[in-house]
This record gives sequence, C-alpha cells and structure tokens, in this order.
Amino acid sequence: MLDALSDRLQGTFRRLGNRGKVTEADLDAALREVRVALLEADVNFKVVRDFIAAVRERALGQEVLASITPAQQIVGIVHQQLIEVLGKEQEPLKRAPQGITKILLCGVKGSGKTTLAGRLALHLRSQGMRPLLVATDFERVAATEQLQVLGKQIDVPVYAEERAVPPAQVAKRALAEAARTGANAVVIDTRGAVALDDAFADELAALADEVDPTEVLIVVDSMTGQEAVNLAREFHEAVEGTGIVVTKLDSDARGGAVLSVRAVTGLPIKFITTGERLEALEAFHPDRFASRVLGMGDVVTLVEKAKQAIGERDSKEIARRMQRGEFDLEDFLAQMEQMKHMGPLSGLLDMLPGAGALKSQLGVADLGEDTFKYATAIIQSMTPQERRRPELLNGSRRRRIAAGSGTTPADVNRLLNQFTQAKKLMQAMTSGKGGGGAGLRRMLGF
Ligand code: GDP
Ligand code: MG
Repeated sequence: MLDALSDRLQGTFRRLGNRGKVTEADLDAALREVRVALLEADVNFKVVRDFIAAVRERALGQEVLASITPAQQIVGIVHQQLIEVLGKEQEPLKRAPQGITKILLCGVKGSGKTTLAGRLALHLRSQGMRPLLVATDFERVAATEQLQVLGKQIDVPVYAEERAVPPAQVAKRALAEAARTGANAVVIDTRGAVALDDAFADELAALADEVDPTEVLIVVDSMTGQEAVNLAREFHEAVEGTGIVVTKLDSDARGGAVLSVRAVTGLPIKFITTGERLEALEAFHPDRFASRVLGMGDVVTLVEKAKQAIGERDSKEIARRMQRGEFDLEDFLAQMEQMKHMGPLSGLLDMLPGAGALKSQLGVADLGEDTFKYATAIIQSMTPQERRRPELLNGSRRRRIAAGSGTTPADVNRLLNQFTQAKKLMQAMTSGKGGGGAGLRRMLGF
C-alpha cells in the first residue's frame, strides 16, 4: 500500500537526517524531492503546491533549522501536514437520531460499491444494528445475484426486485420492508457508471430525494487516481455526498487519490478498503494513515485487527507463550490460521514501524493465500514432536516432510526460516525492544 510514495519520502528524510545541520537550501532541496514524490504519486497538483508551501512556512516559522534535530522536526511537520490534508479527525459513520439509518452508495462502475455494501452490513451488525441490503442495479448482469450471494454469506437480508424500475421506487419499497422486518439500517447499492451523465445524475438525485439518506458515501477506486477524484467531485455535486470511501488501497503503490480526495471534494474519508476479503474495511484515521505513509507504522490498527481476529484471551495466551520462549511450530500454524482472518501478511506489515525494511528482510513482498497453504501442508506433515522442537529437523527429516507435503526441501527451509524470523520479531516486540514493542505490549495488556 502506497509503497512507492512511502519509500521515496523515507529516502528523502534519511538523506536529510544524515546531514546534521540543515540550511534553508537543504530544506528547499528536500521539499523539491517531496514535491516530485507527491506529483509522481499522482496527487492533485494544487494539493501538492499548498502542501509544500505549508510545510515550508511552518519549518521556517518554527525555526527548526536552528534546532538540534532539524530533520526530525521537518518529518514531524510533514506528518502534521499530511494529517491536515487527510482530514485531521476520524469521522465515524453517522446514525439516524431515530428511525432507520440510511446509507446510499454511489460511484463509478467497478469501484467496489457492491462489495462495500456487504462490508458495511458487517460493520453495522458489529455495532449492534440490524442491516438490510438493497439492490438497485438492474444494469450489470447478475448484479442482484452478487448482492444476494454476499448477503447469504454474511447472513444479512437483501431486498431485491425482479423487474427493472427506477431505483427510487425500489428504495421506497425497501424502506417499507425494513420498517416491517425491524431492520434499523439500510445500505443501498447502486448501479454506478463509467462517467456521470445527466440521466444518471438525475436518477441518483431522485433516489436520494426518495430516501433522504443519513449518509451518501461516494466510492473512490484508488487505482484510478485523479480521474476517480474528479468523478467523486461530480458525484458530490449531483447528490451531495457526506463522505468518501477509498477502495483498493492494497493494490495502490502511489496514493494520489487518497491524498487528494479530501482537499478536492471537501468531504471526509470515512473508510478505506484494503483487500478483496469482506473484512478488509478500516475506519479511516488521518493520523494513523499519515504514519503509515511515512513508514512509522500503525500499531494501533494492527492491534485492533489482532484483537478482532484472535480474540483478546487467545492473544494474551499466545503473548505469554512468546515471552516464555515457548512459541513453537504448532503456535505458528495456529497463528497463521488466525492471520488469515486478518488479511494478507504484507498488508499487516505495513502497519509496523519500519515496515519497508522488514518486508525485504523477510522476503514477504507477496505473502498471500498460497503461502499459507504451503506452510500449513508442511507443518501438518511434521510429527507433533517435530512441531514442538523444530531443532530436531535435520536434512533427512526435512526431505521426508517435503515429500509428505508435496513441496521441496527448499520450501521447508524457507518456512523454517520464516518461523525463526517470526519468533525473533515477536520476542523483540513483546520484550519492548523492537520499534513500537512497548506500546504493542501495553495495548495487548501483558
Ligand atoms: P461495483 O461495480 O462498484 O459494485 O464493484 P464491486 O463491488 O463489484 O467490485 C469490483 C471488483 O473490485 C471486485 O472484483 C472486488 O472484489 C474488487 N474489490 C473491491 N474492493 C477491493 C479492495 O479493497 N481491494 C481489492 N484488491 N479489490 C477490491
Ligand atoms: Mg455493483
């Protein structure tokens, strides 16, 4: 996620930090690099211009150049300014003060609206609400079925109609259905378009008039960059949005959309999505996100995810075993199972401070489902004794395990190396030595 931008910014600040004394010319040279990095990340040029001007003014105004740690303070100012651009505070989903909370999703075709509808239903239910999903997309083939399958998968009811009628009519009946069945939140999925023409703008406006939505969320696909941002502004003009959801950040190395959309539309980013799995929905916290962009990690979100996936009690038990050095391949396997619920490992690593370096160290640029499958097969081919005491695994045992799991001895070696690295990492984190460790330990409560 935003790896390209993150790497470049970190490179710039590392070079600045190596200087000790920083002159105004050094500052300007660094800011030029930041400017180029942001423009290459496809950030809106006006946003970049204002950003650089604000950082420069603050840096000179606060006399950081004369301070003992000028580079660090400049990073601090950039961090602050990023938070500003991203929207300062987390803005939660609004709820209707009484009656049904109505969420209308709109945006470009393929931006992730239907998937988001399922995700929001899960989110609402986790907050104790009773959601109803509403299908109004009669254009895309099998759009209704897609929503119905999603609904079934998460056990949330879906309101859909057979015959193509204007979405406003469907929504009206869906609201009646919600009232009848006791649903207190509806999420209305719409058809989306490739561009926003007048007919579609009218259709959305009519739908919004009928529904009187609590939230109108405009979905922005981060992979389409500035084009998505400009379309978001058009959608906002047509239906008066209340918030933005930026999708597919997992596949976006640049970050132009997420860094521009708040400034361009004036709307808060409420959520981001970071994967195809339904769970990959995150409330958007500008400060945490700014930290991730600068490679400072986001331990808070990581811990929240871990708690959700593992459950508080289990995470404490694993942590205790890690501290006693008892962490073995059985635990490793159990943990990998649990991590599957948290999404791909590379995405999780983005949340650790110094993630870039760690990723290349572990060689996990792309640790996905396949890696889990291999690892599971390998560990399951071991005897219980071998799992508890990996040091027993000599060459012939490794060959046997490779044959038993349909992998190669090199795969087995790789897995054992990963295990050793993971164990080291965890020990560093739980002993509070590694970056962010003490904080992590405090938050996990041990
Ligand atoms: P819609 O046309 O706006 O309803 O978009 P869909 O919800 O059907 O999603 C289009 C495609 O994008 C699907 O293949 C989704 O799985 C995929 N998708 C949605 N959100 C994400 C995300 O956060 N990351 C990735 N990698 N894919 C996503
Ligand atoms: Mg759809």
